[in-house]
Amino acid sequence: MAENTNAFAMAQQQFDHVADLLGLDHQIREILRWPMREYHVRLPIHMDDGSTRVFQGYRVQHNDARGPNKGGIRFHPAETADTVRALAMWMTWKCAVADIPLGGGKGGIVLDSATLSTDEKQRLCRAFVRSLWRVIGPRQDVPAPDVGTNAQMMGWMMDEYSHITGMYTPGVITGKPVGGGGSLGRKEATGYGVIYTVREAMKHLKIDSTQTKAAIQGFGNVAQYAADGFINQLGGKVICVSYWDRDDRAAYTVSKEDGIDLDFLMGITDQYGTINKDQAVEAGYQIEDGDEWITKEADVLIPAALEGQINAESVNKIHDRVKIVAEGANGPTTPEADDVLKSRGVFVIPDFLCNAGGVTTSYFEGVQNDMNFYWTKTEVLEKLDDKMTQAFDGVFEMAQSQDVFMRDAAYMVAIDRVVKAMELRGWL
Ligand code: NAD
Repeated sequence: MAENTNAFAMAQQQFDHVADLLGLDHQIREILRWPMREYHVRLPIHMDDGSTRVFQGYRVQHNDARGPNKGGIRFHPAETADTVRALAMWMTWKCAVADIPLGGGKGGIVLDSATLSTDEKQRLCRAFVRSLWRVIGPRQDVPAPDVGTNAQMMGWMMDEYSHITGMYTPGVITGKPVGGGGSLGRKEATGYGVIYTVREAMKHLKIDSTQTKAAIQGFGNVAQYAADGFINQLGGKVICVSYWDRDDRAAYTVSKEDGIDLDFLMGITDQYGTINKDQAVEAGYQIEDGDEWITKEADVLIPAALEGQINAESVNKIHDRVKIVAEGANGPTTPEADDVLKSRGVFVIPDFLCNAGGVTTSYFEGVQNDMNFYWTKTEVLEKLDDKMTQAFDGVFEMAQSQDVFMRDAAYMVAIDRVVKAMELRGWL
């Protein structure tokens, strides 16, 4: 039978597996397998050329037992109701595993951001908020950036919400620009958070990080700061990154055996994480097919692009040297590939633990918005490191005590916390 790479089917399959391990009650499963609410919106936008284009948007609220729904808004041409549902469900587990008082939500609009002018993007962001302002808010549902969206867009959305409600409400959205209600350290947070968990995994596996190499898929926000942390905090080498080339409509791997020069590569990358490959070639980088990143002789693989990238087929190309897979992206590994990684003894740091640094710092942003008092970058990153290390330790202890794979352990910790909150609120 062909592998099902539908993200929501995958998210439900992962949940069902752990629900079986935990012997979860039927009524609890009925609540947690599905989003509590979802909104589908059609957004007509005036384009610069005078035409009107209609965009399909979604906001899904999976579970708010532990606090307001929380999760990014993705602008991507392959977005569907099911990808948004899956991402919303993973947000519930992510906030629970990081032990922050928030639930799970996610949003999306079907488009390639790069095809819109700045004014068109602003109109679309404002239209999204006009459609959904009644169901979002600091105590209801707090969006944030994700693939294809950025701090400026969050600033526009916050402004629109504040206009509609007649109150300056920075806490309606996180990932805003610094100086416009944003938190220092948010930009680095997800990538650095990935590296804090890799550091902890290496401690347990007794690996000397300075002798290690990483291969990374993607070169956007998460990948760039994961690369930065891998090189500058762990002292390791990053031997490749990869990206999606919009002109060629193809993915490429950009590699250098003796380690990439991060500042140089960031200098030739646009705001969408697309690398100028001619300049890379000129500087001695090798350009290969987008799938090649997974075959590299590295100690650590960091998928930091999209879901379903390590699947039944690609998993067999992973080099024997690989000891750790640190999932910077959401849902990068299919359940079939997971079984192979399990049998090979690869240490997987599951997505909703590994990339929880973004939402944790978003939570810090909301706290600072509520206090109207802002922390220094050092304070934010120290608090983030503490939270990520505690989250890693909690999952690692569960994995050891129950003798289960890290992903299952992360689900166990998260589901337990969400179920407890539902019980305390009298839902069960
Ligand atoms: P981004 O838009 O900044 O970057 C995405 C990168 O992936 C770009 O370099 C793009 O070229 C590359 N890419 C796209 N398709 C590719 C392909 N087929 N092969 C290789 N590269 C490809 O996005 P981001 O914010 O870095 O997010 C990356 C992943 O991390 C997503 O799964 C996202 O949901 C997840 N995530 C992001 C955050 C955050 O704070 N940004 C937090 C948690 C999880």
